[in-house]
Parts: sequence; C-alpha cells; structure tokens
Amino acid sequence: MSEATEKIKCLIIGSGPAGYTAAIYAARADMKPVMYTGMQMGGQLTTTTEVDNFPGYKDGTDGTAMMMDLKHQAERFGTDVRFGMVTAVTLSDEVGGVHKVIVDENKEIEANTIIISTGATAKYLGIESEQRLIGGGVSACATCDGFFYKGQEVVVVGGGDTAAEEATYLANICSKVYLLVRKDHMRASKAMQHRVDKTENIEVLYNTEVEEVLGDNVVSGVTAINNQTKKTTEISVTGIFIAIGHTPNSNLFKGLLDMDETGYLITEGKTTKTNMPGVFAAGDIQDKEYRQAVTAAGTGCMAALDAERYLGAIE
Ligand code: NDP
Repeated sequence: MSEATEKIKCLIIGSGPAGYTAAIYAARADMKPVMYTGMQMGGQLTTTTEVDNFPGYKDGTDGTAMMMDLKHQAERFGTDVRFGMVTAVTLSDEVGGVHKVIVDENKEIEANTIIISTGATAKYLGIESEQRLIGGGVSACATCDGFFYKGQEVVVVGGGDTAAEEATYLANICSKVYLLVRKDHMRASKAMQHRVDKTENIEVLYNTEVEEVLGDNVVSGVTAINNQTKKTTEISVTGIFIAIGHTPNSNLFKGLLDMDETGYLITEGKTTKTNMPGVFAAGDIQDKEYRQAVTAAGTGCMAALDAERYLGAIE
C-alpha cells in the first residue's frame, strides 16, 4: 500500500443520482462522507442528452449538467468527492465492525459504513455504428429519451419485458415502433406480449437482428437481417432503443453480499440494508424494476438515513 490507512465513517461507492443524494444527506448529517466516483463520473445519466423528467428542472436539463449540479450540491455540504475505482473489498459481518476497501489497488480505507451505488450498465449490441451514434439517436432508455421522438418512427431491439415495456411506452409518443426480436418468440411475460400485440402502431419483426445502424451524426435508419431467410431490409427511423437488458455493477461484491441470480444486490424489506451490517445499497444496483434517476435518488436518501441510524446505534 502506498499510503497509511485512512479511517472514515461513511464511504460512498459510485456517483450516479443515488450516490450523490446519499452524499448530500450523509454530509448534512455530519458523517463526513468520502465518495469514489468510478470511471464514469456521474454514471449512466451522462450518456443521455436531455433530462426532462427529474423534478425541479422546470425547463429540463442535460444529463451531464444535472450530475455536475448534484456533485456541487454534495460538495457544498462537505462531501469529499474523489475520482477513483474501488478495486477490492473486505466486509465485516459484526455489528460495529470495520469494512476495508482498496482504491485503485494502492490505497486502503477503513469505513464504518459503506453505501454501494455502483449502478447498472445497459447492454448494447456492440456494433461500431451503434456505439458511434449513442446520444445521436441510439438510446438505452425510452423513458429518458422517448419524448424527443414524438411523432417519429423508431426501432426497439429486444424480446424481454423491458423491450415490450419500452415499445408500448414509445407507441404512445411515436407514430410507429418496429420491435426487432431475434428469436421466433418473445421472452417477455404473456401479459406484456399481449399489450404489444394489442398496440396497433407496433410492428413486431421476429427472427430479426440489427446489422447496421445508419447515419453519420444522427440515426437515419437501420439495416435489419432476418436470421432465417438472410434477407436484409432497410428501415427508416430516427431513433433506435436498445432494450436487451442491464448488467448490475456488482462483481466486486460476489460472494460477499446477497444478490439475486442476475447479480442485483438484495436489500432488506423497505430498507437499503444489505445482509452485512453497516453496508447499504441504493439505486440501480438493487433495482431492476424502476431504474429512474428520481427513484435512485430516493433510495440514496434512504441509504444515508439508514447509515446515520446505524452509526447512531453503534457509537
Ligand atoms: P431479459 O434478459 O429478460 O431480456 C433480454 C432480451 O433481449 C431477450 O429477449 C434477448 O433475446 C434479447 N437480447 C439479448 N441480447 C441481444 C442481442 N445481442 N441482440 C438482440 N436481442 C438480444 O432483460 P429485460 O431487461 O427485458 O428484463 C430483465 C428482468 O427485469 C426480467 O426478469 C424482467 O422480467 C424484469 N422486468 C420486469 C418488468 C415488469 O415487470 N414491469 C419490466 C422490465 C423488466 P433472447 O430471448 O433471444 O435471449
């Protein structure tokens, strides 16, 4: 280790809306929180352009600006925001025990409480044209970006509940939604599939995959291939929503904390408590259902309150 061990009351891992909100509350409660931001400072919201649905921004804002506002607000109350990655964790299972964390493989921290807000990462197809046009018509969040495609034609990719939900959400805003499903059936629940089938302006294309996203700076369409007939078709659209699932950023905690079969951390009842005393989880890392900035912020607040009560009880 390069430096002496630092001892703190509250460590926050991750810098999305959950992490910053936890930081605001923890700092105001005099817990002197230290936050490590991770590599993508500000989290997933920095990959969207405009944010119109976060309460308080009456004219909307952009994702990056909003995350800078949250950072400044957390710092105003004394949060120590540091750029860095937590690379190893040892958790104590004793009430009042100290949790040890290594940052960037060379700095050791001992924390009485940890708030995990490492979020989830949307899965993308991984093709070059898609990656290049993220923010230019390629999105992984219909609730965030759908509004900007009002009256336009869009593609949704995926066959699960998220894709079905995004397609029906977009069908209320857009003139037409093409749902591209790579198998000959959808994985979504029967109820969700029924909603899709009932929606007149959704056209489901089975056995269909995206070959190329078209457009230089903004999306102008996709080339889709039928994986049975090998026939390719060009579909003219202005937006493409990738809804093929999310991966929770929980690798660091495998074997240490209870998680479901897909890696989302499990919290106790209506609290943010994990199965380890003094370790709390907030935001998308523990929520595969709602995944909104405002719901993440809400659980960030809860995590700081849970941590404050925990510290109060052990001090
Ligand atoms: P899922 O993993 O359930 O589904 C992912 C879908 O994307 C599958 O249809 C899969 O196809 C498809 N897919 C994966 N990779 C690719 C690719 N490279 N190209 C094309 N298609 C691809 O993820 P969801 O996000 O839909 O759901 C995650 C969990 O959250 C589920 O348990 C779901 O039930 C739950 N959920 C519940 C909701 C609700 O109840 N309201 C809303 C949203 C999610 P294939 O089938 O061929 O593997």
